[in-house]
Order: sequence, then C-alpha cells, then structure tokens
Amino acid sequence: NKQVIFRGYIEGAPKETDMEIKISGIQLKAPKGSDSGAFLVKNLYLSCDPYMRGRMRSSFTSSYIPPFVPGQPVEGFGVSKVVDSDNPNFKPGDLVAGLTGWEEYSLIRKTEQLRKIQPDHHIPLSYHIGLLGMPGFTAYAGFHEVCSPKSGEYVFVSAASGAVGQLVGQLAKLHGCYVVGSAGSSQKVDLLKNKLGFDEAFNYNDETDLVAALKRCFPQGIDIYFDNVGGEMLDAALLNMRDHGRIAVCGMVSLHSYHDPQGIHNLFTLVTKRITMKGFLQSDYLHLYPRFLDYVISNYKQGKIVYVEDMNEGLENAPAAFVGLFSGKNVGKQVVRVACE
Ligand code: NDP
Repeated sequence: NKQVIFRGYIEGAPKETDMEIKISGIQLKAPKGSDSGAFLVKNLYLSCDPYMRGRMRSSFTSSYIPPFVPGQPVEGFGVSKVVDSDNPNFKPGDLVAGLTGWEEYSLIRKTEQLRKIQPDHHIPLSYHIGLLGMPGFTAYAGFHEVCSPKSGEYVFVSAASGAVGQLVGQLAKLHGCYVVGSAGSSQKVDLLKNKLGFDEAFNYNDETDLVAALKRCFPQGIDIYFDNVGGEMLDAALLNMRDHGRIAVCGMVSLHSYHDPQGIHNLFTLVTKRITMKGFLQSDYLHLYPRFLDYVISNYKQGKIVYVEDMNEGLENAPAAFVGLFSGKNVGKQVVRVACE
C-alpha cells in the first residue's frame, strides 16, 4: 500500500519534504466481526485543499477536525471505491466521497463525513471532491447564505479561478450580478474572462496598486467581496466597498506563506461604510447540501455552470500538487488521480 506520510508539524508554507512516500503491506480485506463495521476502499481521486495546511500545525484549533498525526498518512477528501466490507450499508463496488487517507487503500471506520455516489455518466467522478464536494459547497453556502446577494450588485472574488472562486463567480452571474475576479497569472485571467463567464478579471501580480486596480474595475464600488486570500487584497477591497457592503471571509490563503503577514490597515472602513464582514465555515451549512446538489447538478447539465480541474497523475505527485496551492501553481481545482475508475 503506497502512502503519503505526514512527517511532523511545520511553520510557514508547506514543502514537499514535509511528507514522504512509504510502501507498507496491507491485507486487502476489511476486518470482520460483530463490532467492526469497517470497510476497505481503493482511493481513486484525492483532493488538495488549502485548509489541510492548518492540520499540519500542532496548535490547530478547530472543534471539528484534529491536526494530522506525524508518521500517519495525510488525510483528506477523496473519491473511493469499496473493495471489501463488514458494513451492510457499504458494499463492494459502491462509490463514496468523503474523508480518506492519502494512500492507495484505506480502511474506513467512520462514515459521518462520507456520502455514497450514484454514478452518472454526465458528471466526472472527480467532481465529487470539487464542484459537488466541499469546495463547491463552500462557494454555494458562502455566496448565498453569507453574502445576501441581490441581482445587479457588484461582486469581487479573489483566488477567482480556484476550486471555490470559480463557482462563486458563476453563481453570482446566475444571480444577475456583475462579477470581477483576481488571479495570479494571465492564463488564469484568460480562463476567468473566456471560460468561466466573469465580466472582468485582473492579474494582481501585474498591479502596483491594488486599491487603484479595484477602483478601475469597480468605479461604482463593490457590494460583495468574497475573500479567499486575506492580506493586502482584503485591505485594498475595504477601501473600495460601497455603503452597506458585505465581505464573506472564506479563507486567507496568503497568510500561510508568510511568517509575518502584513497587517490590515483599513478596518475602520467597516464603520464608516457600515460594512458587514463575516467569517464562515461551510460545515455550518451542511443542511443545505441536498439543495446545493440539485441546483448545481441541474445548472451543470444545462451547460450554465462549467468547472475547471487541474489533475495530477499518481499518488507520489500528491505532495507537490498540495504544495503548489500556496504559490498558485494550480489552474482550477487541484485533484490527484490515484487509480483508474
Ligand atoms: P484554490 O483552488 O483557490 O487554490 C489556492 C489559490 O490561492 C492558488 O491557486 C492561488 O491562486 C491563491 N494563492 C496562493 N497563495 C497566495 C498568496 N500568497 N496570495 C494570494 N493568493 C494566493 O483553493 P480553494 O478554492 O480550495 O480555497 C480558496 C480559499 O477558500 C482558501 O483560503 C481556503 O482556505 C478557503 N476555504 C474555506 C472554507 C470555509 O469553510 N470557510 C472551505 C474551503 C476553502 P492565484 O494564482 O490566483 O493567486
């Protein structure tokens, strides 16, 4: 069983050497017995997500998920196939999406974060960790529940071509908003404008003054900022917000790379413009998951939503794929194909 092992707790941005590949023996059988309920899965696709960086820190303070255990496989979302089971609800051949190990085969004992997938020829299996998985749901819950959008409003999305951002922009367009995205390369900007339907996009690496760049894109100001990055971009967005604007704080991926992140100077704008800024976790909205799936699958099948994936081949390339998230190497949702369907 090939595995990606987490070596030990880290500071700063993650490196490939924080993980190592190991081969260990495995019995391709689930333990049987009255109190087992375990089942063995073959992992097909693994998801690389920025939040996993938080699990590499011993002091990770989250009520719902603990830090990784040094010496054990990295854990993350995946799409897997059941190969042997002692659980009547999961039979060999069933497909599941949820938390699994970064390894070829995993023994699953907890099923709370797992859902069965009905194969559908029109939907790639890997979408169950992207468009239809946690990142897609984050976009849906964050935009519709946290941003209180109204048709005609001006929406700005950062890390806009990523797993979450690309769907936020499309949801905002479907809602009748004007949408601008920022991203870190001209290739991503092209994707935003020509494939993902954003009204405008800019490469923040080409801008010397982010406040001016946002002013250029939003002469009337921003009603909604969906913040995936924090840092300087948040500071610049604050100065461009309209009165009664909303900022959904989804993530602050820029902070992971810096030991001494630059502080935010413009928070007083919250007061002068009566802006609402709200952090959220997608896991607080899970009751909306069925509604999200109906909405996104229906729009996807009608061609009104598209999704861009960045697929790396092979488990041994998973550490590099994950590390690449923090320098913007991924173009679209970063996925690793571990085995063929
Ligand atoms: P992405 O697919 O967007 O990948 C990360 C992207 O972040 C990179 O491609 C890069 O894009 C950008 N980035 C990396 N480093 C920096 C930096 N130093 N400054 C600015 N941008 C940077 O990731 P996701 O869509 O999966 O996640 C987006 C955000 O959403 C993250 O902050 C994540 O933690 C958060 N999140 C929050 C959830 C919640 O429940 N609140 C759930 C899921 C995700 P570029 O080249 O454009 O800079």
